[in-house]
Order: sequence, then structure tokens, then C-alpha cells
Amino acid sequence: MTGFDPGRLAPPEGFRRIARRLERAGHEAWAVGGSLRDAFVQQIGGGADPKRADWDLATDARPDEVMDLFPRTVPVGVSHGTVGVLDGGVLYEVTTFRRDIETDGRHARVVFASSIEQDLGRRDFTVNAIAWRPASGQVRDPYDGLADIESGILRAVGDPGARFREDYLRVLRGFRFAGRFGWAVELGTDAALREAVDGLAVLSAERVREELLKVLGDLKPSAGLDLYATRGALAHWYPEMLGLAADRDAWLTALGAVDAVPAQTLNVRLARLVVSAADTPEGRAGVAEALLSRLRFSNADRRHVTRLARLFLPFVGPTGSAAEHRRWLASAGKAWEDVFALHFAGARAEEAERAEQAERYLEATRERVRREWLEAPPLSLADLAVKGDDLLSLGVSPGPLVRLLLDELLEQVLEDPGRNDRGSLLGEARRLIEIGALTEASRPGRGSGPPPRRR
Ligand code: ATP
Ligand code: MG
Repeated sequence: MTGFDPGRLAPPEGFRRIARRLERAGHEAWAVGGSLRDAFVQQIGGGADPKRADWDLATDARPDEVMDLFPRTVPVGVSHGTVGVLDGGVLYEVTTFRRDIETDGRHARVVFASSIEQDLGRRDFTVNAIAWRPASGQVRDPYDGLADIESGILRAVGDPGARFREDYLRVLRGFRFAGRFGWAVELGTDAALREAVDGLAVLSAERVREELLKVLGDLKPSAGLDLYATRGALAHWYPEMLGLAADRDAWLTALGAVDAVPAQTLNVRLARLVVSAADTPEGRAGVAEALLSRLRFSNADRRHVTRLARLFLPFVGPTGSAAEHRRWLASAGKAWEDVFALHFAGARAEEAERAEQAERYLEATRERVRREWLEAPPLSLADLAVKGDDLLSLGVSPGPLVRLLLDELLEQVLEDPGRNDRGSLLGEARRLIEIGALTEASRPGRGSGPPPRRR
């Protein structure tokens, strides 16, 4: 193979130490999996993460033998043959050669195998079925994965239809790898992918979610996500996205905006995808809620993304008054920076000239809003210098009127934070009560934040 040189592979020192120890004890130690694949991808200039540390090992040593050989191990999946070995604070996965004896589309029953070739035979794609033995420099590549890396082709190991039916997660993994590296999907594999998408329904929500998060963590999630759409894989887990994906231009614009969100903030990337799928704050919040519940995201993540989706619009402008900015901050709270991130991503996804203009506009707005935020003005009822009890002691009877009065006082304080002192607020409350300014009918019912007035 032309561009590849196993002599230039540079796994971390910890990985080498573990491999040497296994070999000295009379075992085989092979590098396998994503880090080896990515290192080869890198050798020919492909876009793989150059700093991957998670090099996995495959060995003929049994889990108990591995645990005996190393002082610090973690039984990460001993029943599947995987022992975690700690070296220098890094956990390396050492897995005994395995082969599948029974599969049902989502789990496999595995038994230990005797050779690396058998072990490679159960792997999903040719590019993932390569092994390298540092002790001897040998490379095992029984399915020509290196040739596929060189040509940029994603191809299933063996009969693609059969491989997807064994484990439908491979369908989603395939989208991720092809998307991440910009590879073409081999024709037979592609046909089998399209046929297998109905099987995605049997997967657990957790595995589908983890796959989505891996795609969202890629430098540019758009390519992988577009394969979900073009191969018909949205229907079961992502039905809220079908409408958007049916409008090709809108879908590609939405994906471009997802790419433009920094990769470290997966929730913001997910929110960015969601906001393109509906037109109203409630619609967008509904999409977020449905999607994240279905995928069993944690309550914290679900609330965060739903909140961002709801807050997306109405947004603020740079020319508004300080009071308007405070009103917006009162509803956004500490999520305000994430909401800006959503809008910045949308701007960056525009054509160059408009992008620059839109970003300048946003910069100016964010600067003003940031200044306002750093002043730490009172923004919620909790920040008010008077409480419900103070109003009761003025003779207001317990009930909705208390809340109406507090809301009105907060409104005044958002307009002018200088008014937030107990004396003047109590005076103002007295005045409002005296003139009968507030009756229950005078203000619409509302939630905790002030109303999005004047926009
Ligand atoms: P990445 O780490 O970039 O997500 P990876 O290829 O390392 O990709 P892992 O899930 O870490 O993916 O799995 C390591 C290896 O185990 C894969 O390269 C592949 O050989 C094998 N593998 C993982 N999941 C499957 C699966 N569902 N079916 C078959 N082989 C799999
Ligand atoms: Mg991996």
C-alpha cells in the first residue's frame, strides 16, 4: 500500500508499555479500532483527529490473565472480554479476541476466539477491521481496509445486509464514519443501508443518543447528519426533522449553522438543529422536548436545549434601550450567551459578505448585553428589594394581587434598576394600591419573567 507506513504509527507510551508487557508474558497484543484507523487516515492527509489517545488493544490473553498481569485494572466489561488497564492516569481497553455466535439486531452473544483474524471478522467496516502488532510491525488487513481508506470508501465487512441485520447501530455508525471523513459509501453497502433503516427501531434510545452525540462532536456534523436524511433514517428517531429535511435548501442551511457552533458545546449544536425545525417559540420548544425525551437525554440536557429553543426568538437588537436589554436578559437568564451562540452560528453559515455584516451586528449587540449583564441588575422577583410578605403587611390580601403588584414593581425596576430599594418600592406599592391601579383583570396572566413587550 503506497501512502501507509506502520513504522510511523505513534501510539501513546502507555499503550506501548501495555503491549510490551502482554507480549513478554507470551501473548499477542494488537492495536485495533478507531485510533488505528484514524492514524492511517492521517498518514494520507485525511481529516482525522491527530491527538487521539484512546488506542484499544486486542489480545489472546483472557480477562483474568490481563488482570493478573497489570497492577491497576478496571473491569469495564469483563463479561464481553474487556479489561481497562490504567497507565499514567489513562485507561486503555484490552479486549480478548472475540467472535459473535448469535445476534438479534442489537445485542450479540460473543465467545472468545483464538486469532486476531476471527476478531477482525466481527467488526463492522473494512476500515475498522485493521490490526497492527507493535512487537513485530505486522499489519493484518484481511478486508483491504487500507485500500478503502486510500480510496475514501466506506464498505461493510462481508455481506452488508447481513452485517446491518446483526446490529442496526452499524447503520448509524456508517453515516458517522462516511460523514466524518467525507467518504463515498460503496454501492452494495449503500443499498443495504437504505434497506436497513427500518431496523433502527429496535435499537435502544441510549445507543442512538450516544451515536448522535458522536456525530455532533465531529468537526462538521453536517455530512453525517445529511446521510441520516438522504438514506431515510430520520423517520423513527427524528420524525420532527422530516419536514425540515424535505426542503433541501432549508435543511442544508440548518446543517451549515450546526457546523458553525463550536464543537465543544453539543447542547448548543443540538439546539441549533432544533430551532430550524419549527417557526414559533412553543413549536421549537416542543420539538426539543419530544426529541430529547425520546432519546432519553438527562433532565438537565433536555431542559437546557428546550430552553434555548424557546428563547431563540424574539431576540434583541443593538439599538434597543438598556431597559429592553435587561428585559431580554430577564427572560434568558444565564442562558443568554448560548442564545447568542445560536445566532452567531446562523450568521456564520451565511455567504461571506452577509456573514461578516451579520456578525458585526451581533458583536455590537452582545457587547451591549454583556455590559448590562455584568452590572448584575435586578432581573427577577427574587432580586426585588421587596417580597410578597412586605405587601401583605401593607394590607394586601394574599392571592393573585400580590403577584400582580410584584410584577409591576419588577417592571419598573427593569426600566430603572435605581428604583430597587425597599423604601421607594413600598411607597410605590402603596400608591398603586391606593389608586386601585391593579386589578386582576388589568394584566394578562404570565409566567415568572416579564412579558416580551414592544417586540
Ligand atoms: P470512534 O472511537 O471514532 O467512535 P471506533 O471505530 O473506535 O470509532 P468504537 O465504538 O470505539 O468505534 O469501537 C472500536 C472498534 O470496535 C471499531 O473500530 C470496530 O472495529 C469495533 N466495533 C465497535 N462497534 C461495533 C459494532 N456495533 N459492530 C461491529 N464492530 C464494532
Ligand atoms: Mg473508539
